[in-house]
Amino acid sequence: MRRVVVALVATFVLGACGDGGGGAAQGDGRPEVVAAFYPLFEAAQRVGGDRVQVRNVTPAGGEPHDLELSSRQVDRIEDADVVLFFGRGFQPALEKVAGRSKGTTVDLLAEVGDLRAAAPGDDELDVDPHVWLDPSLFKAMVARVATALSQADPANQAAYQANAGVYSRELDDLDSAFAQGLAQCARTSVVTSHAAFGYLTGRYGLTQEPIAGLEPESEPNPQRLGELAAKVRAEGTRTVFYETLVSPKVAESLAREAGVGTAVLDPLEGLSEDDIRAGKSYVSVMRDNLAALRQALGCR
Ligand SMILES: [Zn+2]
Repeated sequence: MRRVVVALVATFVLGACGDGGGGAAQGDGRPEVVAAFYPLFEAAQRVGGDRVQVRNVTPAGGEPHDLELSSRQVDRIEDADVVLFFGRGFQPALEKVAGRSKGTTVDLLAEVGDLRAAAPGDDELDVDPHVWLDPSLFKAMVARVATALSQADPANQAAYQANAGVYSRELDDLDSAFAQGLAQCARTSVVTSHAAFGYLTGRYGLTQEPIAGLEPESEPNPQRLGELAAKVRAEGTRTVFYETLVSPKVAESLAREAGVGTAVLDPLEGLSEDDIRAGKSYVSVMRDNLAALRQALGCR
């Protein structure tokens, strides 16, 4: 009699584990999705809704370049049902562990065609990884996330595709707003602290001028700073952009030297806890970026 009960319990537990098609052995049975950094996290959340559990490997407010992993994170990545990451040397530690994961792993960077070469100053990378800052490329990534979730959890495929459709329309609207908002501008040169905006500027007919060769936290070399300031003045640039996750010191020195202002241009590599609590999102931050660009470039 006792043996029968044990067998029944075992069957029930196995059945529960197999439920959902994702083989989620821990957690609440929903497929577990691991996303490498903020934009991929938001894409998985928007597409998965409450049907999946999504974890962002990069801590809120943290910088994703060259992320280090805790042993707990390594375990989670190995056991995840879906791992969404960027290869090509963007986050080598995660890339390595993703290769050992039991679940569906998607290198979203490798799947973007026609990648740009890395800008000077980003020497350790052979391609520019900042593809999410082009809304049309981000939309393609969202579609790929929907395919990955559907593969891991076929029972909810229709919901994942529908959610991706809604989100994609928001991204289309954003893309149109950028195209229209940046169509007629007095200036086209965008001075940024790190070379994150090549895809964005490329899509909308602008040029990126990164403060290349200057480390975000280091004291700027006065000669280099002088050269950049001369360039800024010669091009009639009015604004030097800095980012939310790195110190604005270098951008501020350059702006002072050249006699121009500074403003934030957010590369969306991470949102802080406060940002998330305040309801900020990929689309809302990108709309803030558009407003900052229009102001700096004198767009009609
Ligand atoms: Zn970056």
